[in-house]
Amino acid sequence: MAAKKNTKKQTKTTQFKNWIGGKWAVPHTRKTFENRNPADTSDLVGTFPASGPQDVDDAVVAAKEAFQTWRLVPAPKRAEILYRTGELLAERKEQYAHDMTREMGKVLEETRGDVQEAIDTAFYMAGEGRRLFGHTTPSELQSKFAMSVRMPVGVCGMIAPWNFPMAIPSWKLFPALVCGNTCVIKPAEDTPLSTYNLVQTLVDAGLPKGVVNIVAGFGPDAGAPLVEHPDVDAISFTGSSEVGRMVGQTAAAHFKPCSLEMGGKNAMIVMEDANLELAVEGALWGAFGTTGQRCTATSRILLHKKIAKQFTARLVERTEKLRVGNGLVQGVQVGPQVNAQQIETSERYVAIALAEGANLLAGGKRLKGKAHAEGHFFAPTIFAGVKPGMRIAQEEVFGPVVALLQFDSFEQAIEIANGISYGLSTSIYTRDVNRAYRAMRDLEAGITYVNAPTIGAEVHLPFGGVKQTGNGHREGGTGALDFYTTWKSVYVDYSDRLQRAQIDTGE
Ligand code: ADP
Repeated sequence: MAAKKNTKKQTKTTQFKNWIGGKWAVPHTRKTFENRNPADTSDLVGTFPASGPQDVDDAVVAAKEAFQTWRLVPAPKRAEILYRTGELLAERKEQYAHDMTREMGKVLEETRGDVQEAIDTAFYMAGEGRRLFGHTTPSELQSKFAMSVRMPVGVCGMIAPWNFPMAIPSWKLFPALVCGNTCVIKPAEDTPLSTYNLVQTLVDAGLPKGVVNIVAGFGPDAGAPLVEHPDVDAISFTGSSEVGRMVGQTAAAHFKPCSLEMGGKNAMIVMEDANLELAVEGALWGAFGTTGQRCTATSRILLHKKIAKQFTARLVERTEKLRVGNGLVQGVQVGPQVNAQQIETSERYVAIALAEGANLLAGGKRLKGKAHAEGHFFAPTIFAGVKPGMRIAQEEVFGPVVALLQFDSFEQAIEIANGISYGLSTSIYTRDVNRAYRAMRDLEAGITYVNAPTIGAEVHLPFGGVKQTGNGHREGGTGALDFYTTWKSVYVDYSDRLQRAQIDTGE
């Protein structure tokens, strides 16, 4: 990555290489792939390397070498680079948000939020450089000192999805770096530019060569070799459950720590005492923000029978008014889906829901017309009359498609909300404090919101889910530090004699 302050130049470059050991590297495969704007597929954002195992190997070698010096840089000094990164990201926010909307589609307001999340993570993790607390504890023996300290894990392999193109890479890279690890990141094939922008910023902030390396490419060719590589000490993956299962199995075969963050089918419960206007507002944002392409998207809305009709009418009315279009155009509220495959998935689930007997109340089709001709646009879609066992109520669509279900009692709402294989995010709208607290206790999910939709995570709280959403790790907050460090227990005996734990009494 060339000289500092050349960010403008970088985003105009259309041909990218891998970033390995502080240098641009042409992939051994000599292959590239195109990154196109999903709102206008005639707009080529850039071409990126379609890397293979040899490229991954080069990057891992560079990261392994860099680890020997990076791990010895004091954590507060490592943190200073993150702090500077946060400052530079803030300066470049507008440009990076613009790049992100161009490659991923979500509206500018949201891509600004995505960059902001990386800024917040930079500052939060920079603060950790002066904490990274371990424990001191008494020893059972005299003149003996006991403590536990956090050690870096080593080379961390990171596989990112496309829906939060800068925020999610920052959730992975920044805690790993402050803890003293080095990294090889494989961006999602739909949104590599934002990872390049992020890493460019780290480099401009003073990150030494080899500490972060980018290998771009497709999952089976560049992602799988990263998971398998014997010198990669830990894997952090965010993506589909299908791929996550494979990644987890491969990592397990190598006894490699592996953090998996996967799907959701997130329920919003609207009780009969809810502020309905607020709930409708939340539903629109939760279901159709990021064009429904969030793992925390509100994809099921559970309505108390007493308010179902009123809520549904209002939601349909507001949904039909949403402006769908190019996220760079002011006033547009919902961007395109990220690629043709995602549109096909939305179409497939519409057909499935209709066949199951659900009632289509809004949307249900791709948008054509002049304003939508060049992109992957799908109309915000609402299904009512959905039953808990239907596939549209069980499976993740990852598009602007929401299912409305009804319930008679609070207990039934909790049962329906929990009756899925995922457990990422949940929400309840109620003014009854007892019900709110019962929901916080009883909803099976990593995240519960009260009087807010299922989206809106903040970086200093743990992020992740239960059941098939994940495998028990958390990103965000101190949970990330737990993944990117390993505990070392240290005993210092200053008695000048052999003292045997559990045997000598110390008398
Ligand atoms: P999505 O369907 O949302 O794109 P995926 O799980 O397919 O989710 O992709 C998430 C990330 O996982 C991407 O960076 C992708 O390239 C990567 N990936 C896909 N297949 C594999 C694989 N077999 N091994 C490792 N990574 C993979």
